[in-house]
Amino acid sequence: LQKENIMIFGSGLIGRSWAMVFASGGFRVKLYDIVKEQVTAALEDIRKQMEDLKKSGMLRGTLSVNEQMSLISGSSDLKTALEDAVFIQECVPESLELKQKIFSEIDLHVNDTTIISSSTSCLSPTKMFNGLKHVKNCIVAHPVNPPYYVPLVELVPHPETDVATVEKTYTLMKNIGQSPVKLMKETDGFVLNRLQYAVISEAWRLVEDEVISPRDVDIVMSEGLGMRYAFLGPLETAHLNAEGFKSYCERYGEGIKRVLGTFGPVPEFSGKVAEKIDEALWDQQNDKNGQLEARREWRNTCLSHLAKLKNEM
Ligand code: NAD
Repeated sequence: LQKENIMIFGSGLIGRSWAMVFASGGFRVKLYDIVKEQVTAALEDIRKQMEDLKKSGMLRGTLSVNEQMSLISGSSDLKTALEDAVFIQECVPESLELKQKIFSEIDLHVNDTTIISSSTSCLSPTKMFNGLKHVKNCIVAHPVNPPYYVPLVELVPHPETDVATVEKTYTLMKNIGQSPVKLMKETDGFVLNRLQYAVISEAWRLVEDEVISPRDVDIVMSEGLGMRYAFLGPLETAHLNAEGFKSYCERYGEGIKRVLGTFGPVPEFSGKVAEKIDEALWDQQNDKNGQLEARREWRNTCLSHLAKLKNEM
């Protein structure tokens, strides 16, 4: 697939990021959106983002900003955008009906080798791709926001997806510097969100039970577990904390089961606890948009430095 045409279907937050990641890997990208102005805005925003990345030394790939920009073209005409595309990455809003409609449309225009991939965070590949003529070529490639700095991509097949589709998508993701993982079958929430939800729900219960403040529970992650998790997963962490994983289970299994037995029910995710956490996370009550923007920018800077460090190790 190297250096062939990629089509990005939807030029919002995630579509723009995918376009930048593919262009950084030297691929030609057609960025399509149903809203013409959105395409123009996306191209301007991508240039600005790339120039900022260049200034801070964080531009990905070996090509210059101009070279990468020259690989990306915008379109609001579906047929033109689909022409010669070997890989289509769909990035429209998270609605099953909308995605089903779009995939049936794409299905009519592609040949038997084009891969049709969805960025969905949690919609079922079975529901999205059922009945399509090219179902063998369909897959979910779920990125993590922001994909430019966080390389994980979860690949989730439909039961009828060809092994070759999975393998080609895997290789393509590797080629553009992302870190793909393959799910053998779909499961609600895929894997990243299942792990994330386990953590969020226990954080909620700890705050609800007044064991710890919202700010401190976040510090447990950022200054404790997260330090390891940027490099090792929970399983290898356990493996290294004993003489191998089996030894970890022998040593700590009973204790872990005892603690897990004290976990409360699934939180409601509304009411007083939500208010308490929300209140704790604002520095002040005014200019909330400004605070979010500044914190997101800071997060992206931290993530880009971490990504650089990980690449150097
Ligand atoms: P967004 O709202 O920023 O962008 C969606 C884009 O799709 C818009 O530009 C819109 O004009 C366009 N669009 C709408 N209908 C269309 C149509 N019929 N044809 C062509 N274009 C159309 O959304 P986003 O945050 O980029 O999310 C896109 C997908 O990525 C969703 O499935 C989402 O779940 C997934 N995702 C998002 C995140 C995240 O953090 N935002 C992370 C991972 C995956």
